[in-house]
Amino acid sequence: MSISIIAFILLLLIAAYAVNFFYKRNKTGHTDQHNNVNVILLEQHVWFYQNLDAEGKRQFEDDIRFFLSHTLITGVDTNIEELDRLLIASAAVIPIFHFKKWRYYNLREVLVYSDSINHKFESKGHAHRNILGMVGEGVYNNMMFLSRSSLRQGFHNKTDKHNTAIHEFVHLVDKSDGDTDGIPDLLLDKRYVLPWIEMIHENMQQIAKGKSDIDSYAFTNKAEFFAVVSEYFFERPELLEEKHPELYKMLAAMFEVE
Ligand SMILES: [Zn+2]
Repeated sequence: MSISIIAFILLLLIAAYAVNFFYKRNKTGHTDQHNNVNVILLEQHVWFYQNLDAEGKRQFEDDIRFFLSHTLITGVDTNIEELDRLLIASAAVIPIFHFKKWRYYNLREVLVYSDSINHKFESKGHAHRNILGMVGEGVYNNMMFLSRSSLRQGFHNKTDKHNTAIHEFVHLVDKSDGDTDGIPDLLLDKRYVLPWIEMIHENMQQIAKGKSDIDSYAFTNKAEFFAVVSEYFFERPELLEEKHPELYKMLAAMFEVE
């Protein structure tokens, strides 16, 4: 056998191995985090994605790919599974889905804990753990802290108007103008700032009187109000529109949802 024939056979074998390798990877649903997005997991777990048309789904996948290739996701006291990465990226993409060029310039890393943490960043087995998620400030700027169990719960329960990860990403959107103050300057046309503040105050009064179905945590301050009603808006849009039509209209305008 001549050398060229041996080389040819070797090449064929390498090609066959490569084809087999990639075929197997796709078949098992194993995905390269920077290239392929596991659409089966998105379809199973992300309500927002399920409701998009084919073009919307493609855009959502692109946005997720972009987010994951620009953001570190680190498990602190827990392993991170592919689903966790997809849920975090989905929570990031959902609020800004209708803004073509939005980037989270103020986020570098998401630190994931197994469960809620306390102010010393201690998780399971420690006292005073009441933080489900948090956007870092000061030395922790550009970081987000998330409880993995809250992340999962937020996407699992579709009727409770809560989604911790979306809540935290809405804080980041709010923060992008320099202040986390509940007035997202980049989403709010100047002429709507005063009506928005009035709307916040009116709703807060209703919450204080116990006459609102908005979670009372929204009463904390304007920034929490904005994050809590945004969770409601993305989790239960029809219910929000029915119960709070004005608030729904304002949020739809801000997030550019028709
Ligand atoms: Zn908050």
